[in-house]
Amino acid sequence: MEDCLFCKIIKGEVPSNKVYEDEDIYAFYDINPAAPIHILVIPKKHIASVADLTAADEPLIGKIYTAINKIAEEKGFKKDGFRIINNCGKNGGQEVMHLHFHVLAGKQLGEKIV
Ligand code: AMP
Ligand code: ZN
Repeated sequence: MEDCLFCKIIKGEVPSNKVYEDEDIYAFYDINPAAPIHILVIPKKHIASVADLTAADEPLIGKIYTAINKIAEEKGFKKDGFRIINNCGKNGGQEVMHLHFHVLAGKQLGEKIV
């Protein structure tokens, strides 16, 4: 999608520090890390947010979680654990309107809300 930052990152029009890529998914380091390891995992298909998912996207969401598991294994933080965060819409604090899952790791994470 034009004028979408993360679509531009997928196309290589905006630089990113890639962590993982397959035919459906792209993952890269967050530019403003909130933990020692902070990775964003996104679908290559432009979906604005969780609120825009349909039943047809169910396999894709499963693939995202499998990719996160692979990344956790490859980057060595699977054993110690990690946190996955998705912000959805205005009240959720979503700033980039291309579905993304924050993966935070590398320290004992605090500030649990739930
Ligand atoms: P959210 O607030 O959930 O929409 O998260 C957007 C995330 O994208 C923030 O954590 C930003 O630091 C991150 N971000 C914004 N621009 C870039 C970029 N060019 N490369 C990597 N991460 C980015
Ligand atoms: Zn996009």
